Amino acid sequence: MNREVRLFRGEVFYFISSPLESKDSYCYYPDGALLVSDGKVADSGPYETLHARYPSVPETDYSGKLIMPGFIDSHIHYSQSEIIGMHGCQLLDWLNDYTYPAEQAFSSREHAEKTARFFIHELLKNGTTTCMAYATVHPESVDALFTIASEYDMCMLTGKVLMNRNAPKGLLDSTEKGEADTRRLIEKWHGKGRNRYVITPRFAITCTLDQLESVGRLHAEYPDTYIQTHLSENRDEIDSVLSLYPGHSDYLEVYERTGLMTDRTVFGHCIHLSKEECERLASAGATIAHCPTSNLFLGSGLFNMSLVNTFAIKTTLATDVAGGTSFSMFRTMGEAYKVQQLNGYPVSALELLYKCTLGSAKALHLEDKIGSFTPGSDADFIVVDYASTDSQQLRKEYLQRTNNWNIENKLFGLQILGDDRAITATYLIGKQVL
Ligand SMILES: [Zn+2]
Repeated sequence: MNREVRLFRGEVFYFISSPLESKDSYCYYPDGALLVSDGKVADSGPYETLHARYPSVPETDYSGKLIMPGFIDSHIHYSQSEIIGMHGCQLLDWLNDYTYPAEQAFSSREHAEKTARFFIHELLKNGTTTCMAYATVHPESVDALFTIASEYDMCMLTGKVLMNRNAPKGLLDSTEKGEADTRRLIEKWHGKGRNRYVITPRFAITCTLDQLESVGRLHAEYPDTYIQTHLSENRDEIDSVLSLYPGHSDYLEVYERTGLMTDRTVFGHCIHLSKEECERLASAGATIAHCPTSNLFLGSGLFNMSLVNTFAIKTTLATDVAGGTSFSMFRTMGEAYKVQQLNGYPVSALELLYKCTLGSAKALHLEDKIGSFTPGSDADFIVVDYASTDSQQLRKEYLQRTNNWNIENKLFGLQILGDDRAITATYLIGKQVL
């Protein structure tokens, strides 16, 4: 634990509620300060006030830069880090051509640790301080990711992929082995330090009914774990699920009947949902992780954010590397904006940012720990440069000259033009890790 007390000066911004529900959804101090003590947020507010309140505390000056909670990436495959940006067709071909061959290498603990180390460094470089990640079918892939995350004291949510059919032999488990491995990994890692276990059936195509039922059983046995899977990403996928599960009226019903529909479940994608499915997702309190760079890259479709908003479904933003093409949540927000433009919904910069900070934390039931600067939160924060490129600098000068250099224009510029170059520093529980 980092016992230091320190005051960080800069433009402090964080959400206190959803911008869809309140006009006063955030705190913003243009010349602000964040007080960190013992790895926790102790206070925040205008710099002059905090400086007077804590006169003898050492200070770090990030004046002119944005200090905000680190990003939460709620759907990402660490095991696909090395196949990012591979040319191909749509989802099912992409899995067969790239994903499955790459994931077979994770039977080697050495390969898993090397990739986990790269993956976590890449997240931190991009300002992502928490993620919910898919490992592979191999239990050692989970051990590797939790081990490296623990070295950084990073809040990590992950789990062993469960799949017992329709994939190469080296990637298949059985219902019994998958359940036994998952139970052992939960006992070993869940709630240890900042680690959280996620029960991870890949999706209905690669799991038998029997295996999905084992997921429902495991979650009932360990109700504070999470569940993650994929739902309605691609039309061929949906057709395939309905033919594998006769007697189900839609894709979601497969997960509902097997006990996977909970308020701790994160469904990746959800592009092709019916209104009935939206209603059921909302009433169960389940979360949708929207992954725009992946949806565009794999040609999966245009997620309808305004539709799911009308049902008040919890929605987060995520990269879905390596169907997704960038580790950067700025890039992800920018592409989410463009997808919604094609749907006729020019989503606000605030809504996008909320969905990868406090909105994600709430979806994961972790809002008392991450996603904001509420006193007592873990001090996972990033320092952001508004103008890390010449183009951003020119835009900034124009907005300053025209008296429009306000927080919404600042944030939107980062979302459309920003990437890892904008991240000046990343802190985990008050300690600078990048
Ligand atoms: Zn995915």
